[in-house]
Amino acid sequence: EWGQLKQDLRSTVGASNYKNWIEPLDYVGVTDGIAVFHVPTSFMGNYVSQNFGDRILYQINQMSSDVRRVQFKVPANAPRRPTRTAPQPEAAAARQEDDMLIPTAPLDERFTFETFVVGKPNELAHAAAKRVAEGGPVTFNPLFLYGGVGLGKTHLMHAIAWELQENRPELNVVYLSAEQFMYRFVQALRDRKMMDFKQMFRSVDVLMVDDVQFIAGKESTQEEFFHTFNALVDQNKQIIISGDRAPGEIKNLEERIKSRLQCGLVVDLHPTDYELRLGILQSKVDRYRAQYPDLDMADGVLEFLAHRISTNVRVLEGALTRLFAFASLVKQEVTLELTQDCLADVLRASERKISIEEIQRRVAEHYNIRLSEMIGPKRLRNFARPRQVAMYLCKQLTSRSLPEIGRRFGGRDHTTVMHGVKRIDELRIQDAQIAEDLEILRRTLES
Ligand code: ADP
Ligand code: MG
Repeated sequence: EWGQLKQDLRSTVGASNYKNWIEPLDYVGVTDGIAVFHVPTSFMGNYVSQNFGDRILYQINQMSSDVRRVQFKVPANAPRRPTRTAPQPEAAAARQEDDMLIPTAPLDERFTFETFVVGKPNELAHAAAKRVAEGGPVTFNPLFLYGGVGLGKTHLMHAIAWELQENRPELNVVYLSAEQFMYRFVQALRDRKMMDFKQMFRSVDVLMVDDVQFIAGKESTQEEFFHTFNALVDQNKQIIISGDRAPGEIKNLEERIKSRLQCGLVVDLHPTDYELRLGILQSKVDRYRAQYPDLDMADGVLEFLAHRISTNVRVLEGALTRLFAFASLVKQEVTLELTQDCLADVLRASERKISIEEIQRRVAEHYNIRLSEMIGPKRLRNFARPRQVAMYLCKQLTSRSLPEIGRRFGGRDHTTVMHGVKRIDELRIQDAQIAEDLEILRRTLES
């Protein structure tokens, strides 16, 4: 009757979920009201339990009413992948006999290393992620990935989880957002299941928590997170955390957590540059070709998009998806005109240009000097350095020419601007304070 049940499930979960998650389940039988299934890996058990457990139980109950629970186990003597002959350590084998209670969040099938395009702005983060995904001995703990919205943090974390599942299927890999962590913590408190909760998270081999800034200001959740974190680090278990900014810059996060997060490797995903955007667009187009085989695209369209659309990759992808859907509907070649028509609103939105005045004002505020002092003639270092920082940001964030920028800084010469920009470019590497100032200013200006 499992055969029949499977067929019913196929229609409710969809073909691809069915193939990936339901089909490989091996029905064992019912004992004491628990329907037991064998799964090839603990990771898969977690996933199925989390995502389809209720549905499977429901379907079973349609046929028989004495099943109260479903359980997914890795069989004790499960044949490993063909190439894997090393015996399992006892601890791992024993744990696989336990209930699969660890709540990992669903992983997006599209977020793998294969689909992640590497460029200058993300190469370090990518390399670090790759390293962790090998599943070798823990070398840095935690790995902290940070960067603005839509720059690939979640993508990289999912990619790590997928690859670990390949490389080390016996490991208990848990991925969840900080929000889900909090939700489960609160639920455990409410249901008086804190012991279970603690035990659950402390038996994880690799813990990934996405968007950690979410727990800032939430005191008891932070507290519990801190303990979980320490317990795992003590056991030399790998932890991977993401945030929207560097640990030290997350407001309302406890100092001891900040310093813990800084202990490992902290890498940031920089805003995408033109080359990376173009690379991402090209790889997406290659994949779209399968979906829209008859679609023609004029030269220059991708270059146009890479130039004109913001650094957020999600926005870029959304634009491309819409463009292709539209072109295939109207059965036209994707030309520049079609692109401009179809994406008029997106293009307008990403046109919000940062003005020279805005930069001058923000930089003056940041360094606590007057706007008149920034633009004025004085060469005192207290004014000159902020002035150069502002010039640098004008060059980076606006499309104004050097002479134009010079004019707006009290009629200075373009060589003065060029000198200032060069100076800051050097300091950016040598002087951590300047680097941090630039980072903060860029963020406030771009938000
Ligand atoms: P974040 O978590 O940093 O906000 P995501 O990881 O959700 O960003 O990425 C947003 C979208 O952009 C996703 O669809 C992701 O696949 C895509 N994306 C981001 N960076 C890249 C990249 N380097 N290559 C391919 N796709 C990317
Ligand atoms: Mg994310």
